[in-house]
Parts: sequence; C-alpha cells; structure tokens
Amino acid sequence: MKNVIMIKYGEIYLKGNNRNFFENLLLKNIKYAIYDINAKVKKIRTRYVVSDYEAQDEDKIVERLLTVFGIHSISRAVELETSKQEIFDFCKTIKLSGATFKVETNRADKSFEMNSMQLNCELGGIILDNNSNAKVDVHKPQQTIFVDIRENGKTYIYYENIKGAGGMPVGSSADGVVMLSGGIDSPVACYKMAKRGMYLTGIHFASYPYTSNEAKEKVVKLAKLTKPYTHMHRLLVVSFTKIQEAIHKNCKDEYMITLMRRFMVRISERLAKTVGAKAIVTGEDLGQVASQTVESITSSNSVAETMPIFRPLIAMDKEEIIDIAKKIGTYETSILPYEDCCTVFLPKYPLIKPNLKKVEEEESKLDIEGLIDFAISTLEEIRI
Ligand code: ATP
Ligand code: MG
Repeated sequence: MKNVIMIKYGEIYLKGNNRNFFENLLLKNIKYAIYDINAKVKKIRTRYVVSDYEAQDEDKIVERLLTVFGIHSISRAVELETSKQEIFDFCKTIKLSGATFKVETNRADKSFEMNSMQLNCELGGIILDNNSNAKVDVHKPQQTIFVDIRENGKTYIYYENIKGAGGMPVGSSADGVVMLSGGIDSPVACYKMAKRGMYLTGIHFASYPYTSNEAKEKVVKLAKLTKPYTHMHRLLVVSFTKIQEAIHKNCKDEYMITLMRRFMVRISERLAKTVGAKAIVTGEDLGQVASQTVESITSSNSVAETMPIFRPLIAMDKEEIIDIAKKIGTYETSILPYEDCCTVFLPKYPLIKPNLKKVEEEESKLDIEGLIDFAISTLEEIRI
C-alpha cells in the first residue's frame, strides 16, 4: 500500500482519434508543474498517478497540480494491489469523519470477482463495523469512499475530489502572442487563453523615458506570476516612444489612442510571425474605456492582416476579471501605480467611435513602415 495522488482529466475525454496526443501533452505538463519535486508520474488508462514522493511534499504537489489546465480533479488516494483481501483489510482501517457515508465503487477491471453493487454493500458493512455511530446514506452522504479498481492491477481508494483547473493542456492549440500591459486585464487574458490550450509569448510596449524601468519590471513580474498556468517563458519588449512622439507631432490629439492601438497590432503581428504564433491576444473588455468600443475594435482589427485577435475578456465584468486576477495572484502587482505607455500623451478627449476612413487619413501622415521597423529594431527579449 502506498499514498499517491490520482488525477482525472476532463474535456480530453471528448477527443476521438487524437486523444493520445492530448493525454501525452497533459502528462508532460503535469511533470513540468512538479519538475523540481522528487516524484514519479505515470499514466494509466484515463488517469494519472503521482507517487513515490516525500510525505511533506504532498500538499505542494496538489497545489502545483491545481495550475495545470486539462485536469478535472485531484484526489489523495491509497494505491493497493487489486485483491479482495487487500481492499477489505484497508477498509477495516477507515475512520470516518462524517456521520453519514456511502461507498462508490468503479470497477474498470471487469475481471474482478465481485461487481460494484456487491462491493459497495460488503465494504459499507466492513466500514460500519469500525464506525458504529455512522450511517449509510446513498443519496446525500457527508462522506463518499471511492473505490476505483483499475485495469493495471491496482485499486485506488480515496475520499476527496479536488476540482482541477479544467480547460485544455497548454500547447494543445496553436501558439499566440499576448499584448501584456501592467494592468489587471491582460494577465487574466493570458490565463483565459492558456486555459484553452494556447501557449503565449508576451509583448510589452514601453515608452522610455516617459515610462520607468520599474514599469517594465512590473510586467516581467506579472508574466512570471502567470507562468505556472501559461508556461510563458519569453517577454518581448519594444520601445514605443518614437511612435507616440510621431503621432503627437503629426496627428490630431484625439487620434492618439486609436493610432497607437493600430501600431501595437501591426507590431504584434510581425513579432508573432517571428516566433511562430498564429494569433494575437489582448485584455480588452467591451465598453471598459474609450478605446474599447466596437468602433475602436473595428479600427484595430482592420490592420491585422493574417491572424485573428482574441479578446477573451470581451464580455466579462470588471468584478469577474478582478476575481480571477486575485485567484491567480496577479492582482496585487497589477494595481501597483506605474505609468503605462497608454497614459503618455493621453488626449483630453480621445475618440470613442473612430471612423475607419478618417483614421486611415490621419495615419497616412506618418511613415508607418519606418516607424514599425524602428520599433522592432529596439526589441529586447526577456526570459521569464
Ligand atoms: P490592462 O488592464 O490589461 O492594462 P486596460 O483596461 O488598462 O487593460 P488598455 O490600457 O486600454 O486597457 O489596454 C487594452 C489592452 O491593450 C490591454 O489589455 C493590453 O492587451 C493592450 N495594451 C495596452 N497597453 C499595452 C502595453 N503598454 N503593452 C502591451 N500591451 C498593451
Ligand atoms: Mg492598461
């Protein structure tokens, strides 16, 4: 008998022919999450089992597994050799914590000599012998003892099902780039897309000397904080100063934000191609600020030539976004007050509903290609 952690997966069940690909990717991601902890991970049919770790590491392993997308539930379990004797002996040692309980057997190994119903009754009786105050309640028990007889000759017994992160394993979709500011929203956007399997590279636009080094460090820190979920390991920092100065000098004030957004999208698309990414992700949220109206989004979408822009927060309330930011641990860092490039040269009355034709006219006053090339020449790559 040994203590193990049993992992069940979720949506991968739905995958037909390429289920193997998803299962192996999830195995890799589980190993990655606990790479620095001494433990073994094995895949058995439709489950994973973590074993051979030090008892004091168990909680840490569970905590890490909670960040792995694709996991449906996590249970601390005991692993027994599948035999009537072993299962019965173990059940004799069970001390219940609830007043009511039931036994729920799952017999994947159909060769086992008793069926699930028989085992539920028999084991329920054995447990009652040792817990004379307890009662069986098959409808709403306070405690359920799960007995999982697998095809690998092992039986797993456990009492808990901790809800996992859900979603799909990171790396199961095409890669993307995420426009990462220092705010609350974009780290949450990273989390959301990673949950659908997208591996992301971060892009940050800095405006030295108007924005400080601390502002950049804040973004690096945010990227690091999302890493357990996203696996992000690269942040590309581009200087946006020259672009902002050019817009400020040549274009009408109210077009500042609208034009900046278009440059950000163009540069992101170029960088995406260099890292093999096929989508751009932003933390925009409909109606949150002037630049996040349908008309503004139309203006920024129209410059993306070859890839979609995903805005996973588009229909979320700020409160819901903040809840996730708190859950993943980015909120406290996001609210630290440093200037973002968007606050530099901020117009008094930004355009709320830009007209695409007029935007293009205004933009034609600029050397678009030259400015983009220069910005990309300032690229700094930071390892996360
Ligand atoms: P956030 O909380 O993510 O900063 P926000 O509500 O402050 O978002 P904006 O500042 O208008 O909204 O930014 C909208 C989106 O544009 C951001 O979520 C981010 O994806 C992108 N963005 C804005 N500023 C930058 C920047 N300096 N570098 C990279 N991306 C940026
Ligand atoms: Mg912002």
